[in-house]
Amino acid sequence: MNALYFSPLLLSINLMVASALGCTALWYYSRPYRGPGVWTCGVLILVAGLFLLLLDTPSLRILGSALQTAGEATLVVGVFRYLGLTEPWWIVPTSASLIGIAMGWHSWVASYNGELLIALSSGLSAVIAALASRVLWAGPGEPELRGVRRFVALTFAGYSLVSVTSGLIALANSLQGIEFTLETRSVSYLLPINFGIPLWALCLICLALLTMRRILLDSQHNAKAAKASAHRFERLMGVTNGGVMLLKDGRLLDANPMLETLFAQPLAELLGKPLAHLFETCDDLATQMADADSRPHDHQAIRGDGSRFAAELSVAALDDGSLVAEVRDVSQRKALEEELRQLAFRDPLTGALNRRAFAERAERAEQERLRCARQHRPLCLALFDLDHFKQVNDTYGHAVGDLVLQRFAGLCRGGIRRTDHFARFGGEEFVLLLPDTNQSQASVLLERLRQHWADERLDTPLGMLQSTVSIGLVQIDNDAPLEAWLERADVALYKAKSEGRNRLVVG
Ligand code: GH3
Ligand code: MG
Ligand code: MG
Repeated sequence: MNALYFSPLLLSINLMVASALGCTALWYYSRPYRGPGVWTCGVLILVAGLFLLLLDTPSLRILGSALQTAGEATLVVGVFRYLGLTEPWWIVPTSASLIGIAMGWHSWVASYNGELLIALSSGLSAVIAALASRVLWAGPGEPELRGVRRFVALTFAGYSLVSVTSGLIALANSLQGIEFTLETRSVSYLLPINFGIPLWALCLICLALLTMRRILLDSQHNAKAAKASAHRFERLMGVTNGGVMLLKDGRLLDANPMLETLFAQPLAELLGKPLAHLFETCDDLATQMADADSRPHDHQAIRGDGSRFAAELSVAALDDGSLVAEVRDVSQRKALEEELRQLAFRDPLTGALNRRAFAERAERAEQERLRCARQHRPLCLALFDLDHFKQVNDTYGHAVGDLVLQRFAGLCRGGIRRTDHFARFGGEEFVLLLPDTNQSQASVLLERLRQHWADERLDTPLGMLQSTVSIGLVQIDNDAPLEAWLERADVALYKAKSEGRNRLVVG
């Protein structure tokens, strides 16, 4: 405890405690940055070691010396960690055990000149600090931090230089046989206290400076990245083909320029408006909004002038409870789809259903009939074949033949109900399925069609053209397949032909 009267030591210890507290605060407030945590541990270990050195018990003094060196080494490991380099953890146990063994030998096995111990301790400190200095000066890292890192490296180099000087003086003393005593105020002992410890505190302050500089640099990078991201987002919103809008509590909070174009309304008018202002309300829209269902749903959108267009809407929920929705005008796609649907189901020349579409509808009609079998709902099937059509082609040409087919199909489609199914079966043959129609009702209708067609006149370059049609009719009343009914209708049609054409025969 005598050492307490040695005021420079007490001052130095206080300086170290103050730096340790500063480092702990730095570590706490700069989390989650890597490094300060480890070097703070190093400083605390070092301070604990210094306190033990004040005691008179030899074993605690040995422990104190070992801790002091271990603390210095841990701080340097923290510097490596902070720079993102592989940490040389081995220097902590190696340096601490070297000092521990040397002091233990001196105390318990064979006493030798204390100056030698000072030389060893200073030498280790010099090597450890030089390691930190080298890596701070030349190690890889952000170019923006090079200046401040080199400044920190110089403070470590200064500390290393003081330690080397002290070690060399101690070595020279021991060679000259000068014994170490506190009373002689050994220069080798006082040098680190008067110059080394202030330099050590400066190293810690500089490390804090380095940390702050890095935090500032990172936040500058983040701010720059955020600005660039916002700029990119704005550009993206400007060039996207879809209208994008932000919704809060069902009302429009923001939108991109495309949304203004799609709905033909300026943003100022759109803001604050409820969704019902933009779309025809329906259950599907409400469900999609409630579930923030990101699958695209089709809706009817309303422009500023009240006109409608087919729109595809996708919705996604944001963290703050608002919704972001994308609107696309799909009216062209819808028209194309409808066109394709027509092409797939309709005969291109006459616009009547094609054979495949007829088969599908006939099957549905048949199922409907069977489902309602107890209500005895009737179903009729008729086959048409234009009479002597080959002659029409031969006489007037194929183009006129086509025209005749179109006229006949038009007449039939105009004379039937929406629920009836009229199809071109091939060539000049057509078929008609009449749900909820019995044989006598069907006969009346078909007879009228036949008569109308017989009365029809077609003006051609070669003069007036007249055509007739033969019809075979059957009423479907059992579970036989459609093919069987078509065959029966065909037999009736054949009979109509053989009986002189231009007539209706019920099979
Ligand atoms: P029938 O009274 O016995 O039915 O005699 P038809 O001449 O009408 O019967 P046939 O089966 O001998 O001839 C059908 C003709 O229909 C032959 C073919 O050239 C013509 N045809 C088939 N498809 C088309 C078409 O798409 N356009 C035109 N213009 N003619 C077609
Ligand atoms: Mg034919
Ligand atoms: Mg024919």
